[in-house]
Order: sequence, then structure tokens, then C-alpha cells
Amino acid sequence: MPCLTNHQNQFRRQAGKERRRARGFLEAAVNQPSDMNATSKAYLVGGGIGSLAAAAFMVRDGNLPGANISILEAAPVMGGSLDGAGDPAGGYSLRGGRMLTTDNYECTWDLFKTIPSLNREGKTVYDETVEFNELHKSNAMARLIDRRRAKVPVSSMGFSMRDRVELLKLSQSSEDALAASCITDWLSPGFFETEFWFMWSTTFAFQPWHSAVEFKRYLHRFMLEFSRIETLAGVKRTIYNQYDSLVLPLQTWLKGQGVHLVTDCKVTDLDHKTEDGKFVVTGIHCHRHEKSEVIAVDEGDLVFVQNASMTDASSLGSMTSAPQRLTKKESGGWVLWEKLAEGRPQFGTPATFNSCIAQSNWESFTVTLKNSAFFNQMNQFSGNEPGTGGLVTFKDSNWLMSIVLAHQPHFPNQPADVQVFWGYSLFPDQVGNFVPKPMADCNGTEILQELCGHLRFDLETVELANCIPCRMPYITSMFMPRLSGDRPLPVPVGSRNLAFISQFVEIPDDVVFTVEYSVRAAQMAVYQLLGIDRKIPPVTPHDKSLRVQFEALIKAFK
Ligand SMILES: Cc1cc2nc3c(=O)[nH]c(=O)nc-3n(C[C@H](O)[C@H](O)[C@H](O)COP(=O)(O)OP(=O)(O)OC[C@H]3O[C@@H](n4cnc5c(N)ncnc54)[C@H](O)[C@@H]3O)c2cc1C
Repeated sequence: MPCLTNHQNQFRRQAGKERRRARGFLEAAVNQPSDMNATSKAYLVGGGIGSLAAAAFMVRDGNLPGANISILEAAPVMGGSLDGAGDPAGGYSLRGGRMLTTDNYECTWDLFKTIPSLNREGKTVYDETVEFNELHKSNAMARLIDRRRAKVPVSSMGFSMRDRVELLKLSQSSEDALAASCITDWLSPGFFETEFWFMWSTTFAFQPWHSAVEFKRYLHRFMLEFSRIETLAGVKRTIYNQYDSLVLPLQTWLKGQGVHLVTDCKVTDLDHKTEDGKFVVTGIHCHRHEKSEVIAVDEGDLVFVQNASMTDASSLGSMTSAPQRLTKKESGGWVLWEKLAEGRPQFGTPATFNSCIAQSNWESFTVTLKNSAFFNQMNQFSGNEPGTGGLVTFKDSNWLMSIVLAHQPHFPNQPADVQVFWGYSLFPDQVGNFVPKPMADCNGTEILQELCGHLRFDLETVELANCIPCRMPYITSMFMPRLSGDRPLPVPVGSRNLAFISQFVEIPDDVVFTVEYSVRAAQMAVYQLLGIDRKIPPVTPHDKSLRVQFEALIKAFK
């Protein structure tokens, strides 16, 4: 049992109250009176999937005309963390590759069941994704590779009896009891050497020092995945990268509805007043094309803020240079949330999440290949066709490196003789096994050298390859140990027209580091502020199913 300070104990009690309040929120949401009028406008700060989803929910379920909605995004493109771009000459790059499921992601599919596909006439994005996954089923045959380049048998989780007891205790503990403790406060060192930990932590990007609450939530939310974690059979992929397969169709639909998509527009502050004890936003300060302007927020208008981003301060390297080491100071991405939260505990505590890059940082890389040697050898070695294998993790690698060979092409403009794959390492600050440097200091050439070392592939296999590394200092900031009051509710208590949509809001039972979390936050915020009387799809209680529990138990004892 972790040793909690008085301060933590005091917060535990407060956290319990917050969570009960958050649980009541879902039922209360549909009954909220709306201040909106016929000319009401909505402003969304940030153009990630959360804001795009919120705009769609306002149009589809709230009947707000698209022309009354503006999305203000600091970057030159919409989509936030769901990026993906490039060409064969300059190389392709994406910060992340996503695993989705159709057994969860209830709000995401509720949205994409009504967004038309860009590729298949008469189909929705949901339809085309399901059809694609019927054809390309995940069945990883080389999930973990050890230092001898051997495929590790993974049908057993590798638990000792002690691991089982401790894991059960953690998974049954209340969030109040877990409070701001770390995973290591509950599980002994041996647990972190089990096959289960290597598979679970690299599938979901957990580190031992991350939040025990979040780890527990994952165990419950993805209990269905527990018994098939070694093959990743439950994982669903999009046809292309998520920018082309999710962001682009949604953005296209929003444009068709008249929604204003404003890029290169950084919001620096909000004007506000207090009326009848309520926090009311009255103006939006933004910086666009070297000019500052203030957008007036009138009576009945709404403002949705994406408070922070997991990809804030990320930077790209090249074959000859390592990514620059940026921090929030250089990017300014957390500033707006920090300003709003100062002296207002109901708006959360950004410092809980953004104060320690060493605990929230990792690095990904995208490789563009111009001959099929690497894919052919991987196919032979792993036994998986591209798009069916999921993650291949080098479990003994100092960087804890994994790669994913998605179905090709991964980009719509990708020629047939070009292949693209993505990888990442959870410990970029460690010196490599084949390159005597931390990954954080490596360029693309050195990362490929390290990868080929683990695979025992000749370097000629990646001849002409272009590897673009990407440093993400806050990538797991949402997993930092926290108390529930550290994140605001989607519509904070006492707010009249301000809502938050991000990975840093409090939603009962759901799990961060997912597209679903942002879409659910969007649906909750929109339905509450617009007073929409439609049921938000609940978090599916797979963990309450006796069959799922039984299968998980059998697996844990294998
Ligand atoms: C490497 C990686 C792997 C991932 N793997 C998975 C996975 O397997 N499965 C899964 O479901 N999810 C995964 N995710 C998570 C998922 O991509 C994110 O949870 C989701 O995209 C977050 O969306 P968002 O809209 O909340 O925020 P973001 O995408 O972070 O968007 C926020 C946007 O707001 C903008 N912004 C912020 N402040 C301002 C301001 N003041 N003014 C103007 N603009 C502003 C930012 O520029 C940014 O574009 C992964 C993410 C990454 C990076």
C-alpha cells in the first residue's frame, strides 16, 4: 500500500467528492438549460479531433448552423495529434499510429457512423473502417522479440502468484484509495519483467511511474483485450493514417456545413466576467498572421477550449539531425490553460501534468522505404503480412523500441513501390544497444542502425530509407499521477459558456491517450452547453461481463 502524505489524504477525500460530482454530470447534462439564442455562435480553441468532433455534434445533434461555428487552430493544419503528411521525395511523417477497437470507442463510432467516406460512395467512415478490418485482421505472430532475436512465447502472461494477487488488489481498489499513487506503489519489481507488462505497457504506452488510477481504468476499460493482448486480435486500424482516414473526412463534412476552419491562429487569452456567480467568457485574444485581434463573445455564444496537447512542443529530426529539444516554454501550448487555471481550482492543475519531461517524454519515428527489402524480410521473420501484425517490440532493447508495419499504402498519395512504417521507443534517454548514444541524440540514420541491430538485418536492407524521428516531450503527460480535481470537468462547475475538450478533463471510467476520450469529452461538453436531449453512448461495461472476467482470469493463471 503506498504511503500517502496528509496532503494527499486531504486530496483523496476531495477527489471522492469530485468524482461523485462527475458521475452525476452525465445524467444532469441533458437537462441543462441553454443560454443560446437564434444568433449564437460557437468558438473552438484548437483544431484537434476533440474540437472537430464538437463542431460536428453541434451541427448534427444541436442544429447549430455550421456557419456559426469557428475552429481556431494554432498550427497550419487541423487534426492536432492526428497528423500525417509527406511524399516519397521528402519522406512521410506521422507522430503516431493508432490502434482503435470497435468494442469500445462508443462516441467515436457514434460520430463516424454519420460522416461520409471520402473513398467509398454511399458509405460512412465507420462502414469503410469495419469492412477494411474484416479483410485485414490483426493476428500478431511476433509480438515480443528478445535479445537473441527470438520470438518470445507470449501465450502466458508470465505472472507469479504474487503478481496476480497485487494486480487483483490494484484493479479492485477504489480511485480514492489509489489517489495520486504510481503503478510501482502497487506492483513489485518482478511484475515489470512479465510478458504481460511488456505487451500491455507497449500497447498503451505506460511507464512504471505512471498513474495507478489510469492503469486501473485501462485494466477495466480494455478487459476484453486482456485475453487477446498477445495477438492484438481486438485492435482495429483505419485504412490509411488517421489524418487521411479520420480528420480529412470529418473536416470535409464540416466545411460542407459551412464551419469556419481557421488555421495559424493562436489563442493567447480569454476575456471574462463574473455574472450571477458564473464565469462568462466575453472575448478571445488571438494572434494570426503577425497580428493580434480580439473576437467578441456575445451573450449566448459558447467557447470550447482544448486545454493543452500531448504533442505540444514536439519536434522532427531528419536522417542527419536529431529532433530539437523543445519545451512548453518554446511552444507556449500550455499557456492558455495555465492562465485560466490560475487561482481557479475548478479549471484544474496543469502543473500536475507538465512539470517533468523526463517522466512524460518519448520518441517516435517514421520510415519511408524505396525498395521492398525491409518489408520482405520483416514478413519472413514475423510471419505477418503488413497490416496484420500490430506491434513488434524488442523487449530487451535499451530504448524499448517497437515498430508497426501497417497495411500499405499508408498514405493515399503513396506509390506502389514505396513503403512506410512507424515505430517508437519508450526510453529515448537510454544509450542504445547498437548505437552508443541516447535515442534523443540520434538522427534517423542512427535509429535505423539500432533497429537493424535488433533485427540482425544488414544495413543495406534500409538503403535509401528516410527515417524522420519525432520527439514528444509531453506525450504521456496525461498518465502522470493525479487526483481527480487536477482535471476540470468538460463544463466546469460555475461556468456559463466555457467548456474544456481534451485529454485533460475528468470523465468517469474512460481512459486517456485515446481518440475516444477527446470525442467523448466533446460530446459531453456540447450536449451540456446546448442542452441536447440525446443519450451519450455509455462506456461499455465489458468488465462487468462474467464471460470477459472468466476469460481474463483463465489468462492470468495460464
Ligand atoms: C504517438 C501517438 C500514439 C497514439 N496512439 C493512440 C492509439 O493507439 N489509440 C488512440 O485511440 N489514441 C492514440 N493516441 C492519442 C490520440 O491521438 C489523442 O488522444 C487525440 O488525437 C487527442 O486529440 P485532441 O483533440 O484532444 O488534442 P490534440 O490532437 O492534441 O489537439 C489539440 C489542438 O489544439 C491546438 N491548440 C492548443 N492550444 C491552442 C491555442 N491556445 N490556440 C490555438 N490552438 C491551440 C493544438 O495546436 C492542437 O492542434 C496517440 C497519440 C500519439 C501522439
